[in-house]
Amino acid sequence: MKIRGKLITAFFIMTIIPIALIFLCVTAILNKENSVLADTYNINEETFHNYDIVINPVSFFHHIALADYQAITKLTEESPDQFLDKQFLDKANKSLLKRGAYIIIIKDSQFYYIGNKKKFEKLEDIPIQSSYDEPASHLTYIDNKTSSIIKEISFYFTDHALGQALLVVDFSNVPSRWFSAVKDIVLAIFLILFSTGTLLVIWIYQSILRPLDTLRLATMQIGTGNLNEPIHVSSSDEIGKLCRDFEEMRIRLKSMVEEQIQSEENIREMISNISHDLKTPITAIKGYAEGILDGVADTPEKQQKYLQTIYAKANDVTYLIDELSLFSKVERNSFAYNFVSVNLENYFTDCIEDVSLDLESKNITIDYYNTTDKNTCILVDTEQLKRVLHNIIENAVKYNDKPDGHISVRIEETKTKPAAPPLYRQLKEDGSDLFPQKKPDEFIQVQIEDNGPGIAANDIPHIFDRFYRADASRNSSKRGSGLGLAIVRMIISDHGGKVWAESIEGVGTSFYFTLKKDRKEVTTN
Ligand code: ADP
Repeated sequence: MKIRGKLITAFFIMTIIPIALIFLCVTAILNKENSVLADTYNINEETFHNYDIVINPVSFFHHIALADYQAITKLTEESPDQFLDKQFLDKANKSLLKRGAYIIIIKDSQFYYIGNKKKFEKLEDIPIQSSYDEPASHLTYIDNKTSSIIKEISFYFTDHALGQALLVVDFSNVPSRWFSAVKDIVLAIFLILFSTGTLLVIWIYQSILRPLDTLRLATMQIGTGNLNEPIHVSSSDEIGKLCRDFEEMRIRLKSMVEEQIQSEENIREMISNISHDLKTPITAIKGYAEGILDGVADTPEKQQKYLQTIYAKANDVTYLIDELSLFSKVERNSFAYNFVSVNLENYFTDCIEDVSLDLESKNITIDYYNTTDKNTCILVDTEQLKRVLHNIIENAVKYNDKPDGHISVRIEETKTKPAAPPLYRQLKEDGSDLFPQKKPDEFIQVQIEDNGPGIAANDIPHIFDRFYRADASRNSSKRGSGLGLAIVRMIISDHGGKVWAESIEGVGTSFYFTLKKDRKEVTTN
């Protein structure tokens, strides 16, 4: 859920839900209190509304013991002498007492029966309203002193004596019940507000504050240079998105730092390799120069030999420096390629012709086969591709150990699978694709095979690494920097292709590389 959604939900949790819950609780509490009061005072629940005690107390008090009052009235009309039967009165009073009520019967202004002697001991204590001379048949009034409602009925016994039946209802416990209802309501409101507030705080904490805290800790970790602590946040809101972006940033930063460390390590290794590779010819140059200076080379022939060695070693140094400078340029991407479209067949024929004379002089033969379409064009930097061919062929010559060396160059189409058509196509009115798919690149593959000593299987994965020289080559007298194939790999990869080697020791080595075809099919060289 987004933060906006969370805020709306929080608003509902803070307002609507407490209001609804409070309403339900208040209704339940009032219902409970009302049914207790209705039971206590024998109130007919059909004529009495739940909230009358709060909003219409007059109606409430009117309904108090109404049923008993109606029964007494009926009896005064139908059989008034029943009120002279003490047994009957005791029984009726007993059941009334259970509801906090009792009856008083007065006959000819004399106490005849009193249902609760504790409250009214003397006749004068009774706040009787109707006069004995002019008795009102029905009266209801409240006695504040005893907190009672008195319902008074005047009637005549069969002997014409004036009778007065008083139904006294003690309502002193109504305020206490009302107070307990208010207490319950206040407690319920407090509990509802407290629990919704707590829920809200927990929810906000879980969904907003905790991820923020995780993010803060992760930032601190990164600040101290620890990039290994991943952030796990599963929420889909803005904070979750921020955490995921942060995690992505951490991963990228980590790989950048690792690259940086690797690059520093490479530079260190390179410096050590360079100093080692430069030291050997320079030590030799120094030794031979000292030989001349000290007069060890005491004949013109010896001097000539020493100078030739110095010249050869100086050439080795120049070769190494040239390779190094090219390598560093390609690696720093400061090398400006000049890509042009050339006809594959013409380009390779020229290259093979260029090297074949030199190879012939070294007793090495070269074959060339091209099985691709003769109009195929490739997009290459012609000079740099020549360097690639030169480095591979030069190695084949350099490491050749057979009297009749042989090199074979084969060019063929690569067997790449065509891309699957898209599942859904959006078409224009004329039926053509609205978003035409870009055609996948097509490649040709060049194989350069020699019949040299081959390369040990455990050296094969490393021969394209810079400064890597197989032990056999390092220990031989063959000049080399270990940069030739590293340069080949960088140039081919900058052309969008890939390079690899396969070899059988004692049989020979095959170098393969791929080159991107130019779709324009230009036929110029
Ligand atoms: P180097 O300057 O030593 O030739 P390269 O990067 O050109 O460096 O080659 C790396 C290593 O691969 C060489 O030292 C050699 O051991 C091996 N190698 C390359 N080409 C051949 C080959 N045609 N035959 C045998 N070994 C080869």
